[in-house]
Amino acid sequence: MPQIVTFEAFRVSLPLVHSFETSSHRKSYLEHILVRLTDAGGAVGWGEVASPSDPYFCTETVDTCWLMLERYLAPALLGREWSTPEDASAAWSKLRGHHFARAGVDVACWDLWTRTNGVPLARALGGTRDRIEAGVSLGLEPTVGELLDQVKRHVEDGYRRVKLKIAPGWDAEPVDAVRAAYPDLALQVDANGGYTESAEHVAALEALDDAGLVMIEQPFPPGALAAHARLQARLRTPLCLDESVDDLDQLDTAVTLGAGRVLNIKVSRMGGLTQARRAHEVAVRHGIAVWCGGMHEFGVGRAANVAVASLPGFTLPSDVSGSDKYYTRDVVSPPIRARDGLVSVPLEHPGIGHEVDEELVRDLASRTLRLTSA
Ligand code: MG
Repeated sequence: MPQIVTFEAFRVSLPLVHSFETSSHRKSYLEHILVRLTDAGGAVGWGEVASPSDPYFCTETVDTCWLMLERYLAPALLGREWSTPEDASAAWSKLRGHHFARAGVDVACWDLWTRTNGVPLARALGGTRDRIEAGVSLGLEPTVGELLDQVKRHVEDGYRRVKLKIAPGWDAEPVDAVRAAYPDLALQVDANGGYTESAEHVAALEALDDAGLVMIEQPFPPGALAAHARLQARLRTPLCLDESVDDLDQLDTAVTLGAGRVLNIKVSRMGGLTQARRAHEVAVRHGIAVWCGGMHEFGVGRAANVAVASLPGFTLPSDVSGSDKYYTRDVVSPPIRARDGLVSVPLEHPGIGHEVDEELVRDLASRTLRLTSA
């Protein structure tokens, strides 16, 4: 039975190859927290807290995650014996919210446990695929011409599906331009909750209904499940929920209301692999199509995404693009790569299937936390 005796965390920034803009912010680098757990037998597991720096995607930030790790998650886990990662996650079940912070610890427990048991993470979760269809998510670009350049580059790289960020005033024009250039491309859009139910915004969303989109993701803010249900009733295009669903109760409400036909399962947003796997089970049971979104994870979090996307209900292309699309140098080896729009699930090695460059992580860390059991 694992018993965590050392809990370490590292704040690490990596520069982005191409700065990324959504309806709320623009970034040229990302700062995440890497979590390293060591058990009494010397086994190690890694996880990643991929929280945005600012509270625009959700209420968490890198600073709040650091506080939760130090003050609540590490003390809850240290010294406690657990038999499975589900059992480990009971240690922090009293904590409300803070899913990104929890996810980093949950993934580290899964990595440690599967390494100890000599099992690839994907198989331990119940994954059945050995390759994942990779989609790519493009940010808001300054002009339609620059957006078309980005789409061209990624289609030529073999990505099977392209997702565009939209915002009020930047929707029909870019979508129509991409659709005209690529009539058969699997294309979807994500508004990150930037629209309201005003007549003008609803008309703008309805105008996308003829573009043959795979889905329209999160048009309204997270709490607006009823508004999503009303819009879904007016559209043929499936709505996808992202920010609206970060626990199983919200998923139950969404299913009951008919607030969407697709679910973007993010390991970070759901609070880790344990909850992501449960959400996948519920979605499959209700005929909701599932895919795996990302938070521009470094290699550790990206490997966890690849593992969960190998579950049978993940039938749509996932945002598990190669890390070279985002970062010149990643913290894991081998790096995660997409070839012809497919990412291989690493089934030859136990755990997340990639080795963490610990020296690099320690070198890059702007802040380090190390707590041990008494
Ligand atoms: Mg999204």
